[in-house]
Amino acid sequence: MMDYSSGEKILESLGVTPILNAGGPVTRFSGTRPRPEAMQAMMAMVDPFVELPEFIDAAGKRIAEIIGVPAATITSGASGGLTVQTAAAMAKDDPELIFQLPIADDIPNELIIQRNHRFGYDHLYLTPGARFVEVGNKDGCTPEEVENAISDKTAAIIHLESPYSGDNVLPVETLVEIAHRNGLPLMTDAASRLPPRANLTKFVDAGSDLVSFSGGKGIRGPQATGLLLGNEEWIEYAKLNNAPHATVARAQKVSKESIAGILAAVEAFVNEDEEEENRRYTRLMQSVVDQIIEIPGVDAEVVHDYNHYIPHAVIKLNDRWNGPPKRVIGERMLEAPDRIMILTFLEELPEFWVDPLNLSDEEVQIVADKLRRVLLDASNEA
Ligand SMILES: *Cc1c(COP(=O)(O)O)cnc(C)c1O
Repeated sequence: MMDYSSGEKILESLGVTPILNAGGPVTRFSGTRPRPEAMQAMMAMVDPFVELPEFIDAAGKRIAEIIGVPAATITSGASGGLTVQTAAAMAKDDPELIFQLPIADDIPNELIIQRNHRFGYDHLYLTPGARFVEVGNKDGCTPEEVENAISDKTAAIIHLESPYSGDNVLPVETLVEIAHRNGLPLMTDAASRLPPRANLTKFVDAGSDLVSFSGGKGIRGPQATGLLLGNEEWIEYAKLNNAPHATVARAQKVSKESIAGILAAVEAFVNEDEEEENRRYTRLMQSVVDQIIEIPGVDAEVVHDYNHYIPHAVIKLNDRWNGPPKRVIGERMLEAPDRIMILTFLEELPEFWVDPLNLSDEEVQIVADKLRRVLLDASNEA
């Protein structure tokens, strides 16, 4: 028999080496540690049975009240939310269309998306049978280009809120105005934009009809949950097109335990003191910066801005750097036995960073020690 008494024991008997996740909520590296409030609620919800649509309705209403938006529902991750968004845009509350998807060639199934809003997960929008109409180019997009792409085949306009998606994109308010003037919904993906907590209401307030967030990133709910927030009409369409109904999203079901878990996580998240949290992250990341700042060729500083949702230790290898590229630093950090993941894999950026979201105070010191060692060893290699 396996020994299930601790995570370490489970991994040991499978021959899998655990890592320290100093790269933030990256799914490949297990996302985040679900907060205790979420795990408690999940355990508590093992016992009772419910009718799922009734439970989802009630939990969604409570989440909307806690956050302060008109309506909300629960999805299987933010990417599950993207699929539900476009299913809702195409089928709304029409039972025949809901049943027909993903066959959508005979109904409006086009999604207008800016070139700079294309990203790695965007095919999730297409799974209900939708197609993209891409507008603009890497230098930007004009409102006229969006407007001219609208036809009687258009189902929705897409908006992405994501770090490093480029400055050359239209603001959500402009897209909302164009969409609504043409009788179309505006669908926002803001999966990773929490914290700041103000973003929970920002894109709904700006007029997005449905906004998709990850439950397993900054909120630290169950890893495979997400939220759709929006107005009552569109949350109703979303629910009709989502699991557990026999829809195109049926493979994205969310258990009663996870529903209770994300509710508890949202409540705990909203009630936390964000300033206090930021002071702690800043102190921890400054301690990482202090350990490496004197290494020749290394620039490091604490950054908290649009591209860094919480304070990060951002590191750049400058002209005086004589070692290998940042990718190699990332690979060495990830080597066993003391495996540590830091965010080095955005190849197009000169910098990389340490993210404190998944680290205790002690773990930050372990990360800083290894990073100092790896950078020092690498600094003279050329
Ligand atoms: C993380 C992310 C997703 C996917 O979220 P999951 O909750 O893991 O499904 C989708 N879109 C963007 C922009 C993301 O950053």
